[in-house]
Amino acid sequence: MVSEADVLIVGAGPAGATAALVLARAGVRVLLLDRARFPRPKLCGDTLNPGALAVLSRLGVLDDVLGAALPLEGMTVTGPGGAAVTGRYGIGMAGAALPRSEFDLLLVRRALAAGASLEEGSNVLGALVDDAAGPLVRGVTVVGPAGRRLEVCAPVTIAADGRRSRIAFGLGLAWHPARPRRWAIGTYFEGVRGVGSVGEMHVRPGHYLGIAPLPGGLANVCLVVPEAMARQRPSTRTRPGSSLGAGAWGAALIDAVIAGDPSLRDRFTGARPLFPPTVLGPLAVDGAPRAPRGLLVAGDAAGFVDPMTGDGMRFALRGGELAAAEALRLLRDGPDAEGRLARMMAREFARKRAFNRALRRLAGSVAAVRISALAGSLRPGLVAWAIRYAGDATGAPGVSRSTTPRAAAPAA
Ligand SMILES: Cc1cc2nc3c(=O)[nH]c(=O)nc-3n(C[C@H](O)[C@H](O)[C@H](O)COP(=O)(O)OP(=O)(O)OC[C@H]3O[C@@H](n4cnc5c(N)ncnc54)[C@H](O)[C@@H]3O)c2cc1C
Repeated sequence: MVSEADVLIVGAGPAGATAALVLARAGVRVLLLDRARFPRPKLCGDTLNPGALAVLSRLGVLDDVLGAALPLEGMTVTGPGGAAVTGRYGIGMAGAALPRSEFDLLLVRRALAAGASLEEGSNVLGALVDDAAGPLVRGVTVVGPAGRRLEVCAPVTIAADGRRSRIAFGLGLAWHPARPRRWAIGTYFEGVRGVGSVGEMHVRPGHYLGIAPLPGGLANVCLVVPEAMARQRPSTRTRPGSSLGAGAWGAALIDAVIAGDPSLRDRFTGARPLFPPTVLGPLAVDGAPRAPRGLLVAGDAAGFVDPMTGDGMRFALRGGELAAAEALRLLRDGPDAEGRLARMMAREFARKRAFNRALRRLAGSVAAVRISALAGSLRPGLVAWAIRYAGDATGAPGVSRSTTPRAAAPAA
């Protein structure tokens, strides 16, 4: 079926919804396909760093987001043995925390209001590739909400279907690297003591645990563990989107990590998780720089390093903007510019991705975590700089605090 759309976007997360919003505003006919129905849950630390807020400001949606979110002034990073450094993003810089179900719905609504169409409950199986033409991607195969399998064609397709992108994996454009292999386990807690106006990253030998304050006195808690710990998981699937499932196993692991950590134990006394955790892994995805003509790949579908630096949404939002700009060019000039988007993203993201990879390697080594904790306690300024850099706050145009997010809810 040839759709009415000029651009087909698979995935209505931050990357896809941003591309849809920009394109719809430019008068392009956009069809978004997502297998989920919004609002939908998404395992994430739920923090938007200053770089992400700068993109949202450019898109004209910042006030909506800040109206619903909790402001974040920076990050606290702790290491083993009690080392702790808090890095503020700096004057005029802020981050925000908002559950992904709310944030993603807000962006999707903005894209729809701008004129994009959305087909929810549409599970895309893969790209339609015309090998005789080059190869050229002509659209996707999808199982629609009524369970019917159909082909949807458009001049340009954007794959923004996330970390486990059916399109990118199916075309060999994405794969899980042999290393690192880590799993994430996350849920929401109420009653965690001492959560304030900064995100927290507790790095320990072999694992790390992020805590983000959320509106309503909730806390997002995400634990990231290596494969050796994840191997002990039961193999049953309990939630859609989880590759491991087994919420009870994840809950027990979070409990054990917190109970064994003197700096966290007391803060969780009396706290309780609201849902069985979601479990995802392996987390890391590497991506090939080139896609066939007619296809653009954005967001996590183009590669995912590690959630430790909390900048995935900045990459996704900016990737969505770049994909929209490239789609406009392809609609004008024809599908001739293989790999241009990947080169643009590589140019813009290369240094940050290298930083993230270095940090990821560091966190994977028990000795390096211990040495870094010691170095951090001797040179806290260095850690504070790293926190600002991880938050895209060193080069990001400032998001003024005069657009003040709603006041922080008191810590429970
Ligand atoms: C544990 C963890 C914590 C994180 N914490 C943070 C954080 O605090 N801050 C931050 O900035 N980033 C964080 N990230 C990264 C962030 O979640 C991602 O980078 C971001 O969601 C990428 O957006 P996206 O639009 O590319 O993909 P997604 O948000 O994954 O959206 C993809 C969309 O595609 C749809 N889809 C998938 N497959 C199909 C299909 N076959 N057919 C149709 N639709 C499909 C999905 O339903 C979804 O709506 C974290 C990630 C993890 C795993």
